[in-house]
Formats: sequence, structure tokens, C-alpha cells
Amino acid sequence: MAAQRFQSSTIPIVRFAEIGSTNAEGLERLSRGEAMPAWLVADIQTSGRGRRGRPWTSELGNLFATLVLPNPAPVANLAQLCFVAGLALRDAVVAAAPLLSLDTLKLKWPNDLMLDGGKLAGILVEGGSDRYGRPAAVIGFGVNCLHHPEGLPYKATSLEEAGAPTAPDRLLEALDLAMAVRLNQWNAGNGFPSIRTEWMRYALAIGDQVSVKIGEREVTGRFESIDNRGAMMLRRRDGIAEIVTAGDVSLQPK
Ligand code: ATP
Repeated sequence: MAAQRFQSSTIPIVRFAEIGSTNAEGLERLSRGEAMPAWLVADIQTSGRGRRGRPWTSELGNLFATLVLPNPAPVANLAQLCFVAGLALRDAVVAAAPLLSLDTLKLKWPNDLMLDGGKLAGILVEGGSDRYGRPAAVIGFGVNCLHHPEGLPYKATSLEEAGAPTAPDRLLEALDLAMAVRLNQWNAGNGFPSIRTEWMRYALAIGDQVSVKIGEREVTGRFESIDNRGAMMLRRRDGIAEIVTAGDVSLQPK
């Protein structure tokens, strides 16, 4: 089967002044049999969420956008999409906010984009099947263009705070283009190895000692790489390799 080609700017943008969650709306559309890709973009979300339903603050001035992909790849591995999307989001920020200093713009495993040690953006990939049983996915992006929350257990930041004010629509335009490029890279034959190599080039704490909380268990080791499913490969001090899947894991650089 020929690889599906994605073309930017041909994907329609559906806009909402206010919505609960663009991802929830996308999943609803897939379950109703949505057959074409679409961007769902909201000015404000009232129930924006991260992994495990954790809240994502969603004020006017930031970007909240979900790409609905009814048929994301010939052989879809949805876990890989988070890394495809992470690279694309980084590309888009670089293109739309050229004033940024790039050496502190880092992808944090598995689903965040960090800037100068603060969380700038999060990605939430949620998957399911379309009405024909084929894999389908929504990819949600929340980017702090103007606002960022205070008082989290860790630092959050925004493009505004970093001195690179960027309109959400300008970022969306760059993201639409970058997603088309990265999805085509992923879909081209053996695409994930090249995505993985580039993702690791921009990853936070790669090659460093990190600790990972897996439920009650804390594993410490050297963050060596990510595997074909996007799992983190950690090398413990005793030499044993631990494969950590994203699930509900939180990465802390040491
Ligand atoms: P962790 O950082 O603990 O690994 P995560 O990166 O998987 O978690 P998500 O679950 O994707 O985080 O996102 C939800 C979390 O992000 C919330 O629990 C909150 O701490 C934080 N958060 C919420 N809104 C924002 C925002 N606008 N900017 C940055 N961080 C936010």
C-alpha cells in the first residue's frame, strides 16, 4: 500500500471560541466516522487536559490545537506519533519564534517541550479506531504563547516570558507545515528510526543520570536512548537496562 502523503494547508481548520477540550472533540468526531484530517483550534479550553486527565490551563492568548488523523499511517504505531509531533512542534517554534535562543529548547520525554528549564508546551496523543477498525488518533498541542501557570511543582514558561512573543495563529501556521513534513518523514518506509535519531538530538537529559518514578518505584540510571515504541532505555548503575514505557511516568533530570 502506498504511504499516505500529508500536505500542509490542505487540512481544514475548525475554530472554536471556547470548547471543553479540542482532543475530546477530536475523539468524538472520530467515533462519529470523521474520515478526513482536520485541525480543531480553540481560543480557550474549559477542560484542557494532559496525561491521565491532569488539567492543562487554557487561557486566551495561548495555542490549543488538535490534529485529527483518521488514518495516521499504513501501519500505525501510535506511541511513535508523540515523538513525530514533538519534533514538529519544536520545528514550528523555531520557525515562528526566531528570536528564541535555541540551545535551551529541549524535548522532554515523552511529551513536553521545555524552554530554559520551564515547561513551554505539552502534547497529548490519544488513539483509538475509526469505524472500520483502522487505527486513528488525535494529537493535541497546548503551547504557552502568552501565559503560563505559576505555583506548579515545576517551572512553566511562555514564549512571551522568553522575549519571543508569538501569536497563536502564527505558531499554528508553522505547526501545520511542520506536521506535514514530519508525518511524511515518518510514513516514508522506515521513517521512525530517523525521527528517533533527530528527537534524541534535541532531548533533555539524554546521556545523563535521571530518575523516573514508576508508580511507587523510583528507577535511577543513564538515559541512553528511546526504542522503536518510544520507550526510554535507562542503564542502571548495576549495568542492567530498564525499558520504561510512557504510561504515567515522570522524568526528573538529576
Ligand atoms: P510530568 O511533567 O509530571 O511528567 P506531564 O509532562 O506528562 O507530567 P501532562 O500530564 O502532559 O504533564 O500535563 C499536565 C500537567 O502539566 C499538569 O499536571 C500541570 O502540572 C502542568 N500544566 C498544566 N497546565 C500547564 C501549562 N499551561 N503550562 C505548563 N504546564 C502546565
